[in-house]
Amino acid sequence: MKHISSMTRPGNQPQKLAALKQAWQEWNNSPDVLIRLARRLATTLSLEDQLGVLAEEMADIVPFEAMMYRHTIARQEFVFRTGMGGPHRAEYRLSLEGELYGYLELHRRTRFSEEELEAIEVFIGAAICPIRNACRFIALEQMALTDTLTGVPNRRALDEDLGRICHLANRHNESHSLILVDLDHFKAVNDTHGHLIGDQVLRMSADGLTRTLRNSDRVYRFGGEEFAVLLPHTDAPHAREAAERIRLALASLALDRLVGAPLCITASCGVATHLAGESPEQWLARADEALYRAKQAGRNQTRVFPAIG
Ligand code: GH3
Ligand code: MG
Ligand code: MG
Repeated sequence: MKHISSMTRPGNQPQKLAALKQAWQEWNNSPDVLIRLARRLATTLSLEDQLGVLAEEMADIVPFEAMMYRHTIARQEFVFRTGMGGPHRAEYRLSLEGELYGYLELHRRTRFSEEELEAIEVFIGAAICPIRNACRFIALEQMALTDTLTGVPNRRALDEDLGRICHLANRHNESHSLILVDLDHFKAVNDTHGHLIGDQVLRMSADGLTRTLRNSDRVYRFGGEEFAVLLPHTDAPHAREAAERIRLALASLALDRLVGAPLCITASCGVATHLAGESPEQWLARADEALYRAKQAGRNQTRVFPAIG
């Protein structure tokens, strides 16, 4: 790499500086729709914002009733829609260097002319690189919030969600519950069957937990052999019932076929329902205390803290 101080100044630097200044003014004030599109797309990495900008700039030149974009990013469906449909449709597969970055559809009541279809392709050509970057950004964000072994959200995702739910709970005075689930004597599973089987048991536990819960509930890998479950709009008695369902589901996992011999796991659960004004740390600490009590009481059971009747 060239060191800055060793670089020689170009002879016509004053002209170049003046040209740069002019280009900067043009870049910011240009009536050219593609320059404005590029400038606006460059201000955000949000795919939703970018598609909004694309729709706005495109509608100015090629009017349409509706725009729809869909793509599967990191195994999740992303859909953007603006306006209501029409019988005529122009459909595009967005790809760059052989990689797919989603499908875009425009709808309207009247047929698109050849010139309009060409114009749409120009817009897509100008937007495809920013759209690719926004797709990659979503995938990276998703990766940072997902546990690699089990595929469920990780501790970082839990921290984010706890913060959000505490905020909501404090504002709307609603019940939200948290369950910590710790597999009992899991070290013995590793010691007896090996770490790879242990990993497989953790994956099956995460799947089992997910299947047991409602769609609105979310399972996280809290760490090691510990999971957390967040139950929105759920009071303590119902959260305790959910914890009991979790315990039964884990105890009935079909693990025998993994090792070709009888294998059964149990879990201890700690339940805490958010108290008014409580921080995420305080809420977690209570769920941890409940879990500790379940372990102390002999494992394979659920405790709520503070205890309920
Ligand atoms: P307790 O009933 O008190 O919870 O006993 P335990 O053996 O489950 O708890 P302990 O904290 O002593 O040990 C946790 C074990 O979980 C030890 C560690 O090897 C295992 N573990 C943690 N993370 C992983 C992992 O990613 N894969 C595997 N296979 N094992 C893990
Ligand atoms: Mg354990
Ligand atoms: Mg543990």
